[in-house]
Amino acid sequence: MIYLDNNATTQPTARVVEAMLPFLTECYFNASASTAAFTGADKPRREAAAAMARLLNAEEPDCFTFTSGATESNNWVFSSFARGRKAGRVIVSAIEHASVAEPAAGLARAGFEIVEVPVDSQGVVRLEALREALREDTGLVSIMAANNETGVLEPVAEIGRMIRELCPAALFHTDATQAVGKIPVDLQGDWQDVDLLSFSAHKFHGPKGIGGLYIRPGFELEPMILGGGQERGLRSGTTNTPALAGLASAASEARDLKLQAIRDLRDIFESRLLHELPEAVIHSGSVPRLPNTSYFSVPGIDGEEIAEDLAASCIIVGTGAACSSGAIEGSKTLRSMGIPHTIAAGGLRVSFSRFSTIAQLDVFLKAITPRCVHPPTGGLAI
Ligand code: PMP
Repeated sequence: MIYLDNNATTQPTARVVEAMLPFLTECYFNASASTAAFTGADKPRREAAAAMARLLNAEEPDCFTFTSGATESNNWVFSSFARGRKAGRVIVSAIEHASVAEPAAGLARAGFEIVEVPVDSQGVVRLEALREALREDTGLVSIMAANNETGVLEPVAEIGRMIRELCPAALFHTDATQAVGKIPVDLQGDWQDVDLLSFSAHKFHGPKGIGGLYIRPGFELEPMILGGGQERGLRSGTTNTPALAGLASAASEARDLKLQAIRDLRDIFESRLLHELPEAVIHSGSVPRLPNTSYFSVPGIDGEEIAEDLAASCIIVGTGAACSSGAIEGSKTLRSMGIPHTIAAGGLRVSFSRFSTIAQLDVFLKAITPRCVHPPTGGLAI
């Protein structure tokens, strides 16, 4: 299998699997029991919090509440914000993941004022529009750190400074699911104005079903799940010790980001792609983006169909969203960037990881070139 869809999920490393195993076998005990210090079941959570604090340079391990992943963390931010409020102004970007966009739409239905800040043709949030939207009554701003499709990096530090200047009381949340473990994050440095940050372990070689929310000291969220009082009363339910052990290991390994090696691979890929298919359009190619991501379109091609055809040959890549049938609207990210449907429909996302190799990208390029010249079903019907 040639796997080039690492923005969807990544392969757990051998060390991650090894770290999880004892908590599925001999050390299966309850982390909240008074005996946990003796059984060792309290260790994974402690180590995961410490590893995340080191990875993101957070003030302290206690800043982290663990959840099932970023979807849950994002939903929690919105449900907590809405609790005890009947109205308020909330700002999101036009290209948020559904786990932010949908809760925001839910708040709109409940009577909150939701302002969607547009992005430019490269997918970068329009800062002048954000500045205008930041009225004094703004309660929450949620803008993603890195887009899952294009990999575009939003100017988190600048956005944070703008919020502090114009709306000091507003909460600043960033969905950093695609950023954590891929680019350096410094919560006491240039990201010091971020109050809440969501992440998922499986995006950086950890297990699925575990992630969390960073909550800056001094900020309080309403509890998400009531029950036995785990996660300091914020998210009850028996602690997932194997997943936390995996997260701790993945977060430690992610400190060595291998940024340059992955960026080099992506750049080699794009120059070879443009050599083979000069008509290909690389999205967000001229702005800062994740080093592992290349999102491109071949005009007239149905990206979804090509991806399915490649999967049958054991090559896995991503797409924005299916749209050739007209039944699905296509990639909201590309639409928000003003990319015409004919180009957006040909979108394919290649996302590398530390396990990706030049040999793999060559196989992919050899496979895709003839398919784009002679598409599987003769091109895109629009
Ligand atoms: N936000 C972004 C930007 C994502 O890419 C994803 C995963 N595709 C999520 C949130 C949700 O993450 P999870 O499925 O791990 O909850």
